[in-house]
Amino acid sequence: MNEDSIRSLFRPWPWVLLIFLPLAACQMDEPAYTTRFMAFGTLIDLSIIGVDRTTAEQAASALEQDFAFMHQAWHAWDPGPLGRVNRLITHKEGFSVPPSVLPLIRLGKLYEEQSGGLFNPAIGRLIDLWGFHSDAPECRPPPPPEAIRALLKSAPGMSDLDLEGIMLRSRNPVVQLDFGAFGKGYGIDLAIAHLREMGIRNAIINAGGDLRAIGDRGGRPWRIAIRRPSGGVLAIVEVSGDESVFTSGDYERNFVYEGETYHHIIDPRTGYPAKGSRSVTVLHTDAATADAAATALFVAGPENWVHVARSMGIKYVLLMDNTGTMHMTPAMARRVKFMEQEPDIKLSEPL
Ligand code: ADP
Ligand code: MG
Repeated sequence: MNEDSIRSLFRPWPWVLLIFLPLAACQMDEPAYTTRFMAFGTLIDLSIIGVDRTTAEQAASALEQDFAFMHQAWHAWDPGPLGRVNRLITHKEGFSVPPSVLPLIRLGKLYEEQSGGLFNPAIGRLIDLWGFHSDAPECRPPPPPEAIRALLKSAPGMSDLDLEGIMLRSRNPVVQLDFGAFGKGYGIDLAIAHLREMGIRNAIINAGGDLRAIGDRGGRPWRIAIRRPSGGVLAIVEVSGDESVFTSGDYERNFVYEGETYHHIIDPRTGYPAKGSRSVTVLHTDAATADAAATALFVAGPENWVHVARSMGIKYVLLMDNTGTMHMTPAMARRVKFMEQEPDIKLSEPL
């Protein structure tokens, strides 16, 4: 993969949101190679099936370098290419965007538009105000309401950014980019493309529970466990061919203050952590879209997720609301197997 087409990210992702079931559980004639390394502040599990050990080791080493590059290039608050963009964006003058950041700006604009602004990677200042631009958000009071109101009034959005070729100009000095909600997914897409260039057809890249799987595991589908927000396995879903499974949850990064939990998925309309959802799992071909959609649908919540899913082109959704009801598309309901007794389920119209 072209070095300039990737680079760095964010904050620690607590690992294992979704777990994929052990390869050892199946009988396989094809060689299976598994390894893990740290990237994006989380543990990346890589499994490769059907190639010789040397090829698999070379691929693993290449991917580890890719992820290190991405982590550095897309980090929202460490210095690096995105840090440079965030510094220059506060001025009125246009500037050229590093190639590693350009595709994320384009995708961010698209997802913001498709989600009607519920997905908004331009609210970096708001995320920072909430204290989520630190590796370990401390327990502290929520930000003063006046500070939140002031940022909302400036209404930073991706549509404030004019991109012509590689030249970027911001019409809003309050815009700060934070790709935390889909950078990991986009990075996995680039890594899968790299594996394919190396001739690998069957693999899974699992970054702290969010993953993309290609091919199968020795003729059988990959079995993915969807985590229950309170811990343990909620459901199993099988994937094969080429599919990503991404979850956004209120348990991922949060702090408790005076008995109230404040999590890291912010509703750009209110400036406060989005209410109504506990977790959202999305299945989609590409990981960037699955990642962005899981966050966007979490913000949309149990009442409004269907039309956002439709406009983002998502067919498979499982949303657990804060009463424990599972909202699903009929297509998703056909694929998930709940581990314990069937929960309270509400099916949407088909998408
Ligand atoms: P995780 O990466 O933990 O799986 P998400 O993909 O949902 O979780 O991303 C959450 C991160 O996205 C937050 O930490 C923040 O950086 C960013 N973010 C929060 N709210 C929004 C939003 N409404 N739109 C876009 N990005 C957001
Ligand atoms: Mg996401």
